[in-house]
Formats: sequence, structure tokens, C-alpha cells
Amino acid sequence: MRSRYVAFVLRRQDYLLRTWHADHRPLRLDFDVDRWLGLEILRCEGGMEHDVSGLVEFRAAFEADGECRVLHEVSRFKCVDGCWFYVDGVCRMEHPGRNARCPCGSGRRFKRCCSSMRRTAPRNS
Ligand SMILES: [Zn+2]
Repeated sequence: MRSRYVAFVLRRQDYLLRTWHADHRPLRLDFDVDRWLGLEILRCEGGMEHDVSGLVEFRAAFEADGECRVLHEVSRFKCVDGCWFYVDGVCRMEHPGRNARCPCGSGRRFKRCCSSMRRTAPRNS
């Protein structure tokens, strides 16, 4: 899972398609993300040596079109001949709350961190 996130960050299309289950693999991938900000794993089920399927719930924060958004997905994985493959996922887009912890993992509040990343002029207060 983490390796797939890293592959998304590095835009390693070959790796992402190789680890995608053959029955569900798309022909190509579109990267309409300007910058990945952070990954938070919320839940893992299965995925151990004796399992044939696994489930990972995660939140991945990214920047696109000057906005910070969070992809919240529950992904399904399948084990084929000892290798794990991504099958599919149920996902939704979220906006981080202004007072929530920033999804980039800085530990700061979102409004004091990535929410202001594209602000050009400092605000007078
Ligand atoms: Zn941040």
C-alpha cells in the first residue's frame, strides 16, 4: 500500500499498473495531481501471509488546481501466487477542516499549514 503511494508520488506508472490486478487494471493512469502531501493509514484488514485478500483504508492528501484535497479510500487487495495486487477501491474526496490537523503530517492545523500554500499576499490582521 505504502509502496503504491510512493509510486503515485513518483508517477511510476509501470509499477502501479504491474501491481494492479489484471482483471481490474486500467490501460493507463492520469496524474491530475500537482503534489502529494501525505498518507495516513486508517485501517488494515487481512493481507497477512496466509490471507488471500486484504483491505486498506487510507487518507491521502494532495494539491491540485491550487487546492488541498483529501482522497479517502478503502482499497481491496488480492494475493495471487504470493504477490499482492490492488483490485479496486471505494473512494470519496474530502476537504480538510480548517481546524483539523493538517493531512500533510506537519502536526499544525490545516488553516496554518497547507490551506495557505497558494496565498500570494500576506493577509493584514
Ligand atoms: Zn500541511
